[in-house]
Amino acid sequence: MREDMREETDVIVIGGGTGGYSTALRAAALGLGVVLVERDLVGGTCLHRGCVPSKAMLHAAELVDGIAEARERWGVKATLESVDWSALTATRDDIVSRNHRGVEGRLTHAGVRVVRGSAALTGPRTVRIGTGDEAGAEWRARRGIVLATGSRPRTLPGLEPDGARVVTSDDALFAPGLPGSVLVLGGGAIGVEYASLHRSMGAEVTLVEAADRLLPLEDSDVGRHLTRGLKKRGIDVRTGARLEEARPYDGGVRAVLRTARGELRALDAERLLVAVGRAPVTDGLGLAAAGLATDARGFVAPADWSRLETAVPGIHVVGDLLPPPSLGLAHASFAEGLLVAETLAGLAPRPVDYAAVPRVTYSSPQTASVGLTEDQARERGHAVRAVTMPLTATAKGMVHGQGGMVKVVAEGDGGRVLGVHLVGPHVSEMIAESQLVVGWDAEATDVAQHVHPHPTLSEAVGEVMLALAGRGLHQP
Ligand SMILES: Cc1cc2nc3c(=O)[nH]c(=O)nc-3n(C[C@H](O)[C@H](O)[C@H](O)COP(=O)(O)OP(=O)(O)OC[C@H]3O[C@@H](n4cnc5c(N)ncnc54)[C@H](O)[C@@H]3O)c2cc1C
Repeated sequence: MREDMREETDVIVIGGGTGGYSTALRAAALGLGVVLVERDLVGGTCLHRGCVPSKAMLHAAELVDGIAEARERWGVKATLESVDWSALTATRDDIVSRNHRGVEGRLTHAGVRVVRGSAALTGPRTVRIGTGDEAGAEWRARRGIVLATGSRPRTLPGLEPDGARVVTSDDALFAPGLPGSVLVLGGGAIGVEYASLHRSMGAEVTLVEAADRLLPLEDSDVGRHLTRGLKKRGIDVRTGARLEEARPYDGGVRAVLRTARGELRALDAERLLVAVGRAPVTDGLGLAAAGLATDARGFVAPADWSRLETAVPGIHVVGDLLPPPSLGLAHASFAEGLLVAETLAGLAPRPVDYAAVPRVTYSSPQTASVGLTEDQARERGHAVRAVTMPLTATAKGMVHGQGGMVKVVAEGDGGRVLGVHLVGPHVSEMIAESQLVVGWDAEATDVAQHVHPHPTLSEAVGEVMLALAGRGLHQP
C-alpha cells in the first residue's frame, strides 16, 4: 500500500482485546463502518494471557484439590499419580484457540474489518497503520477513534524478568512446567491466583504483599478470610513485607525480604513471580500527534467519563488504558466498549456504574465483591450496618468444608445494600445476584423477601439479608 494513500471509515479501534473488540462489534451492529487494528491476536490479554488460560488452569487445580478432599474427608480411596503438564496445557490452549476462532468469526460476521498491524495516531482523526517494516497507510475516522491498547505486566526497577527465574504472569503461563517452589511478589488478584495454582500443583509457595493485607483494595474481612484459607492450604503468606533484593542463580532465586517487623529474611525459591500490577501500553501510539498525553501514572484519562471521551473530541478510551475508577477487568472493558460504540453511533447510553461491577479472585478459596467496603461506606458518611456470616453456618457450607463468609454492608434498618463481600467456594458464581442488588440500589428488607433455595451456598446471602431486615432465622 502506498504511504500517501488515505482510506476512510466511521470508527477506528486501536487494539483488539476485550475492550477493543467489544467496541468494534457493537459499533458494527449499529451500522457503523469499523476498522479494528490489532498487532498481535484479537482477544488480547484476557483471552491469550489472562482470564481464560489462567481460569482453565485454576479449574484443573480445583480437580487436583478435589482428589485430596475426596480422600481426606469422604473416604474415597483416590490418590494423585501425577499431573501431565503438557496434557493440561493442551486442553487450556484448545479452549483459548476455540474462543479465539469464535471472536474472529464474530468480527467477520459483524462486518468489522480487522487489520493486522501497529497503529499510531497522526492527528485527532487520523491513524497510520504500520504492517511489519512498512510505514503503512493513513486512515481517517469520520466518527471517532477508540484507544484500546490495554496493559502489560508491571515490573520493578532492578528486578527485570528473565523469563526463567524471575517471571511475570505471561512467562508463568508459557513455562514448560511448574516449579517446585515459588515466591510470588504481589498479593493482588493475579498474585493470589498464581499462588493458589502453584500450591494446588504441589509447589512450596510464599506470597509476599507490601500492604498489611492481601487484596488491599477489598474489604478487610475479605483479606483476612482469604489469608486464613490460603494459610490452611500451606501457603506462606507474608503481608507488610517488602522485597529488598533478588538474585537469580543457576537453581533459582535468592530473595531478601524485609518483614513487617523490620527484620531481614533470606528466602530461596526456584522461581520469583512478579505480580505487582499492570502498566498501560501507550508506546508508539502517537498520543502527542493528536494533542493527547498520559496522566502521571501512564493512563489515558477521559475528560468526560460519561462518554469515555478524551479532551480531544472524537477520541475515546476503553479497557486497561483507563485509570481508576475503571477496574482493569475484562468485563468492565466490555461495558466500556458498549458505551463508546453507542456514543459514537449517536445514542445516549448510561455511563458505566463502576461501583456495581463485581471483582473476583479465582483462587481457592475464591473471593467476590461488589460495591463499597465497610470502611468506604463509613468514610462516605453512611449509617452503616454490616453483618457477616460464616459459610460453614449453612449446611452446604459444611458440605464444602472450606470456610469462607458472606458479608453485607448496608444502610441501617434494613436499608440500601452498599456492598457485598464473599469468600469461599463458587463465590465467583454467587456474586451475580448481589451485583443486581447493588446495581439496582435494592434495600436489604426487599431482598430478604426473596427466598433462596436450600441447601445452597447462596442461601447465606439470603440469611444475611434477613438479619439486616431484623428477621434473622439461623443468623441473629
Ligand atoms: C493473568 C491475568 C488474569 C486475568 N484474569 C482476569 C479475570 O479473571 N477477569 C477479568 O475480568 N480480567 C482479568 N484480567 C484482566 C484482563 O485481562 C484485562 O482487564 C483485559 O484484557 C483488558 O482488555 P483491553 O482490551 O483493555 O486490553 P488488552 O486485552 O491488553 O488488549 C490490547 C490489545 O491491543 C493491542 N495493541 C496494543 N498497542 C497496539 C497498537 N499500537 N496497534 C495495534 N494493536 C495494539 C495488543 O496487541 C492487545 O491485543 C486478567 C489479566 C491477567 C494478566
